[in-house]
Amino acid sequence: MENSEFIKVVEEFGSPLYIYEADKIKFQFKRLSNAFKNVENLRINYAVKALSNISILKLMKELGSGIDTVSIQEVKLGIKAGFDSNKIIFTPNGVNISEIEEVSKLGVQINIDNLSILESFGNKYPKIPVCIRINPHVMAGGNSNISVGHIDSKFGISIHQIPHLMRIVKNTNMRINGVHMHTGSDILDIDVFLHASQILFDTAKNFKNLEFIDFGSGFKVPYKNGDIETNIDELGEKLSLKFNSFCKDYGKNLILAFEPGKFLVSEAGSFIAKVNVVKQTTSTVFAQIESGFNHLIRPMLYGSYHEIYNLSNPDGRERFYSVVGYICETDTFGSNRKISEINEGDYLLFKNAGAYCQSMASNYNSRYRPGEVLWAKNKAHLIRKEEEFEDILRNQIEISNDSIF
Ligand SMILES: *Cc1c(COP(=O)(O)O)cnc(C)c1O
Repeated sequence: MENSEFIKVVEEFGSPLYIYEADKIKFQFKRLSNAFKNVENLRINYAVKALSNISILKLMKELGSGIDTVSIQEVKLGIKAGFDSNKIIFTPNGVNISEIEEVSKLGVQINIDNLSILESFGNKYPKIPVCIRINPHVMAGGNSNISVGHIDSKFGISIHQIPHLMRIVKNTNMRINGVHMHTGSDILDIDVFLHASQILFDTAKNFKNLEFIDFGSGFKVPYKNGDIETNIDELGEKLSLKFNSFCKDYGKNLILAFEPGKFLVSEAGSFIAKVNVVKQTTSTVFAQIESGFNHLIRPMLYGSYHEIYNLSNPDGRERFYSVVGYICETDTFGSNRKISEINEGDYLLFKNAGAYCQSMASNYNSRYRPGEVLWAKNKAHLIRKEEEFEDILRNQIEISNDSIF
């Protein structure tokens, strides 16, 4: 989208606002499919938690994607968006077995990540095939909060527990139809990923009824100019070779599955907010915007970088700013950023706002969550309204003073 188009959209629908470009999502989906063109059965399951608007889910469905879900609510959203239950995989962590049973009854593929649930589920439903989430104990990610494959991680069944796992499978006579790993976000080193994949292949050999192997996600996307990103073509080429050779030895053409969130939607999203105040202190110039970590929490939560761009004055003289929010706690989007001169009332655009931005937004400070727009075929489509005062009060119950005093 051009600057002028962003400004037009934000003037029409109000700010702050999330805007997603459909073409960029399509582009990433095709890029990933293309990287694995040598695999006969590729399945991409979009990770709903990254951005869960129903119109985005519908777009994914049109592209031929399945979905990866982590809660029964996400499963229901997917069904509402039109996904067949056999295009949905449920990969929860630490949820109650009753939720797993409920999802399973909807016909959705279950992925189990601990031995206790595996045993209970296997005893109760030996005929329902399940996938198992393995923890290969490989550190693929850069950030400790989003890297989930290491030894002390709460995710997955440790490879050191495979003998125990095999006993459960034998005793319950259950069928394992898939093996899965998700080593966390920000895979930089393809060799590390391939190493983890080898561990998954070695595990897979233990099971005779496999239909798919799921390699999870965690592809790193670029956050600024010149940033490194996962070389998806190289990964595709190398992993496809290994996968095809595994299938040959295994004697069956399995499905190769991925479940990317960020890779598909991060770069497609922009978050736009207006500058309320420009404040000069002794050492810093602050640009304070009409937003905060209630709308974009990633920088505060795990230090992620979002490039910030002055939409209203793109050619102005560059100066250093700390861009902060209006929340009554430290609320920094970026420190010491070189941005073209900011005036009060300017619109700032935050890049990479497609994944984990709106989906992590809250009503903290009793603020409204912003609207969302999908830009498709050169037109803006409102896909979520900004909240209003009623939404803040929804579900709150006012009791009379008599009940308290
Ligand atoms: C969050 C998650 C994903 C998506 O991760 P991205 O880094 O957004 O690609 C995939 N699989 C599982 C199990 C997840 O929890």
